[in-house]
Amino acid sequence: MTHIPSVAIVTGAAEGIGWATAQCLANAGWHVALLDLNGDLAKQRARDLGHGHTGWACDVTQLDAVKTCVANVRQAHGLIDALVNNAGIADQTLLTLEQDINAFDRVLSVHLRGTFLMSQHVIACMAQQVRDAQGVRGAIVNIGSIASFGGIPGRNAYCAAKAGVLGMTRALASEWARRGIRVNAVAPGYVKTALVEKLAEQGAIDGAAIARRTPLGRMARTSEVAQAIAFLVSAQASYITGAVLPVDGGWMALGAPDAALGPIEV
Ligand code: NDP
Repeated sequence: MTHIPSVAIVTGAAEGIGWATAQCLANAGWHVALLDLNGDLAKQRARDLGHGHTGWACDVTQLDAVKTCVANVRQAHGLIDALVNNAGIADQTLLTLEQDINAFDRVLSVHLRGTFLMSQHVIACMAQQVRDAQGVRGAIVNIGSIASFGGIPGRNAYCAAKAGVLGMTRALASEWARRGIRVNAVAPGYVKTALVEKLAEQGAIDGAAIARRTPLGRMARTSEVAQAIAFLVSAQASYITGAVLPVDGGWMALGAPDAALGPIEV
């Protein structure tokens, strides 16, 4: 019998965690549809991954773009087994009194409206699909953050958006569990990506201080977040839904001053 590869959509797949996730899923035998604002780069990335992968321009905040793109992916690949709602942007990192409402709205829109619109249109496809041996029709992974739990001064929109992503994860998981669609989230700590490098350039974050505050003593590699996402969409996670998996080097576990961790060994 011919093996039919599973198909995953990854949003924001041209860079950072999304690109690492696309590579990780491709290595595990998935066919990946890479969606990004930068459609040319998404298409190039798909070509880099090889046969069976596709790249698409899609702004996840735009209803018409999402509707068209999900329909096109379904037509190109035949079905959609997994969705990774990864697309995201950094916050304006200004004091509250200096923050701009349009920038605030854009952060909420990309993370919350984008996750909602993509989930809504992909779930409509998944719900029509046949259940696998474990009764699963499809799996979604959303991307939270340590900002889903802890407040970061000057990042109102990002903290609100990432807390909201976990709320939506639990709502979707509860609504769709009986119909065979699993919905989970990962909550990364600081990951070395373009987004984090931009914050470091702006002076909004201090890499050395982050390493000191992280029990494992360093930032995550994008591949380490990708592996957790790939697990949650896989058949190995067939009984997991509504969960949030921290991929934060122990950041949220620490309940003491940094000094209690001892020195970072090199
Ligand atoms: P990057 O900036 O490296 O990559 C994000 C990608 O998403 C880019 O290719 C970007 O395109 C794309 N994108 C942005 N807006 C949209 C949109 N409206 N529609 C489609 N694609 C879009 O970010 P990261 O890899 O660091 O972040 C990925 C996710 O992980 C985000 O949700 C982020 O909040 C989360 N996260 C990141 C952490 C970190 O430390 N890096 C920590 C915790 C969570 P373009 O470049 O053209 O804007």
